Amino acid sequence: MDCIFCKIIKGEVPCSKVYEDDDVLAFLDISPNNKGHTLVIPKQHHETILDIPDELLKKVIMLVKKVSIVLKKDSDGINILQNNYKPGGQLVPHIHFHIIPRFENDNHKFEWSHIKYEDGEVEQYRQKIENLLK
Ligand code: AMP
Ligand code: ZN
Repeated sequence: MDCIFCKIIKGEVPCSKVYEDDDVLAFLDISPNNKGHTLVIPKQHHETILDIPDELLKKVIMLVKKVSIVLKKDSDGINILQNNYKPGGQLVPHIHFHIIPRFENDNHKFEWSHIKYEDGEVEQYRQKIENLLK
C-alpha cells in the first residue's frame, strides 16, 4: 500500500517526530498553517474516523489533547481538524488529526460558508439523524 504516513511509521520517510509509543505517533506537518502545526496518527493504517477501532481512537484523541495542551503554552488558541474522504478535504487516506496553534491577529481564515434550511427542513434532518443514531 502506498501510504505516506505508513512509510513515516516504518521509518522509510523521515518526519519531525515529537512523540511516539506503541500505538500512536505525533509529528510536525510538513506544510504548516502555523509553526508547531502537529499531526497525530495511529500506527495501524485506518483510512477515516469511521474505520478506526474505538479503543485505538481513544488513544489517538488522548494524544491530541496532550499535544493541544503543550501547543497552547506558546499560542493563543488551538484548531483541531480532522478531514474524512476527498470531498471532506482528506488528502492522506490514513486517519490523522491536525492540531494547529493559533495566534491573536494571525489573520488565518478558517471560515465555513453558511447556508440556510428551507422551512421544515431542520426538523426533517433532526428526525432522520436522531433515528439513525438509535
Ligand atoms: P489532509 O488534507 O487532512 O489529508 O492533510 C494532510 C496533511 O499531511 C497536510 O497538511 C500535509 O501538509 C501533511 N503531510 C503530507 N505529507 C507529509 C509528510 N511527509 N510529513 C509531514 N506532513 C505531511
Ligand atoms: Zn497508512
